[in-house]
Amino acid sequence: MDLLEFQGKQFFAGFGIPVSEGRAVDSVEDAVAAAEAVGYPVVVKAQVHVGGRGKAGGVKLASNEDEVRTHAQNILGMDIKGHIVRILWIEHASDIAEEYYASFTLDRSAKKHLGMLSAQGGVEIEAVAAKDPDAIAKVWIDPVEGLDESTCRAWVKQARLNPAAEDGAVDILLKLYRAYTEGDADLVEINPLILKPDGSVHALDAKVTLDNNAGFRHDWGDYELTQVRDEREQAAHDKGLQYVGLDGYVGIIANGAGLAMSTLDVVNQVGGEPANFLDIGGGANADVMAGALEIINNDPRVKSIFINIFGGITRGEEVANGIVEALSRVDITAPIVIRLDGTNADQGRQILEPHLSDKLQMQPTMLEAARTAVALAGGTPS
Ligand code: GDP
Ligand code: MN
Repeated sequence: MDLLEFQGKQFFAGFGIPVSEGRAVDSVEDAVAAAEAVGYPVVVKAQVHVGGRGKAGGVKLASNEDEVRTHAQNILGMDIKGHIVRILWIEHASDIAEEYYASFTLDRSAKKHLGMLSAQGGVEIEAVAAKDPDAIAKVWIDPVEGLDESTCRAWVKQARLNPAAEDGAVDILLKLYRAYTEGDADLVEINPLILKPDGSVHALDAKVTLDNNAGFRHDWGDYELTQVRDEREQAAHDKGLQYVGLDGYVGIIANGAGLAMSTLDVVNQVGGEPANFLDIGGGANADVMAGALEIINNDPRVKSIFINIFGGITRGEEVANGIVEALSRVDITAPIVIRLDGTNADQGRQILEPHLSDKLQMQPTMLEAARTAVALAGGTPS
């Protein structure tokens, strides 16, 4: 789960990382009141789940009420890379001497945590990595050993920050590491981490991705409220389905995550584009199948539906009965192709046979079914 900047800053503040005082608001009037409360000059900042807000015009300095009004008006409702701004964060503006970059994330191949620190902050780290990779100091941290102060200090020296920032940076990085591990984040990033003219170091931005699997250990309810989900994903989530929305036009239903992923691959392989990933799991009864068909049927992108079932513990005839009953409940608009294999596949196919038509076809293999799905969607399968 990705946090908005202000939530990330609240998260950081909980671990003692210095951030600016500010208020989250959703109207121009509240923005003005917030600016009065935190004191001018302020920064008016768009709160969206995407970076590069500054470049897009979503971060503006304001030194009086008129300017706050103008910026708040302009930024509320703004579209930043497809994300509409509904919330603003108004914070007291900071004087900046230097901008740095700091982050922790997981290096899966190294099986360690990876810390990255650079004296070239404020710009996208990918750009720094491409242009001047040596400007990023990296430290790999064994999760069992953790990050101690001397390692952290050596890392900061290696990054060649201004010596005036060293103590402040070490302090913040140790706290940031705690926030990352104890807070159960997958990513914590401060860009820019700033050195102020008075010598203090401070987090001016916050990017935090929390590990949803650890949600039961925390109270993340407020963060959930501002999550913006794909409508299809929200509907599927409400039905308890394992669904990921994609941009293509072949709706996919499969039992088992591995089979669902292979189905996407095969559809791609024959020149089609999947509209989604959907794993209905082992059960595949009529209720689950009807729910899955409803989600897919409501997706305007979907031109055909590919149901790919491999009977294992769930037997073919049960799945077939589930499909037949689901079809009687949901008014399907797109044509369907079914591939049914595995345990008791023959019995399952016999059950489906009387229901077959132009709009409900069956194919013996995954590849043929994928081709049929693409053809039914109006494409030319390869
Ligand atoms: P991003 O563009 O989405 O990463 O948003 P940031 O929060 O990182 O802000 C973008 C840039 O705006 C920063 O790199 C700063 O240069 C500038 N900025 C943000 N807050 C302040 C502030 O309090 N004072 C000053 N002078 N500049 C700021
Ligand atoms: Mn930033």
